[in-house]
Amino acid sequence: MPILTLPEYEELAARAHGHLCAGQILGLRMALYGIRLLGIRDPAGADRKRLIAFVEIDRCAADAIPVVTGCRLGKRALKFRDFGKTAATFCDRETGRAVRVAAREDSKQRAQQLFPDAGSANEQQMRAYRVMPEEELFVAQWVRVTLREEELPGYKATRATCAACGEGISFRREVEREGRTLCRACAGERYYETL
Ligand SMILES: [Zn+2]
Ligand SMILES: [Zn+2]
Repeated sequence: MPILTLPEYEELAARAHGHLCAGQILGLRMALYGIRLLGIRDPAGADRKRLIAFVEIDRCAADAIPVVTGCRLGKRALKFRDFGKTAATFCDRETGRAVRVAAREDSKQRAQQLFPDAGSANEQQMRAYRVMPEEELFVAQWVRVTLREEELPGYKATRATCAACGEGISFRREVEREGRTLCRACAGERYYETL
């Protein structure tokens, strides 16, 4: 489907995220700005396979990015880089171009100035983020993102097997340690302890 109106996106975002909040609106506008700069008109339809999005924070705004772009984690088109920054990079696989869009730190103060009587900060920001020009909300920069083939949706390769835990590993995530093929957990990147 072609690009919807912001209120239509807000409805979809509220459903996907569980509530409508300033972060949703910011994320929607961020994604709309990114795809506009890339010249992508039909992200959910004809241009469906062109986009890969990197999000740099796992907060509200992150849930809004797939609503506009169609880029989903389970489709390998949404990449999470845990930088704690309200920013996302939109990559066009067709042209090789990529644009990083970061929320401006002063957008919250601007929202307060614009709607001082709107009640809560969230309410002020929701109203402001709907109407503020893109340049006041974001800083955009053209960047180069090099995507190895195993990062792309649709990549197929034989799975490796970890020599320590025996679990299967996809997408070349295995590592070689002293001649052994290991999964990242067994190689030391484990985020859990077994009990
Ligand atoms: Zn939220
Ligand atoms: Zn392992």
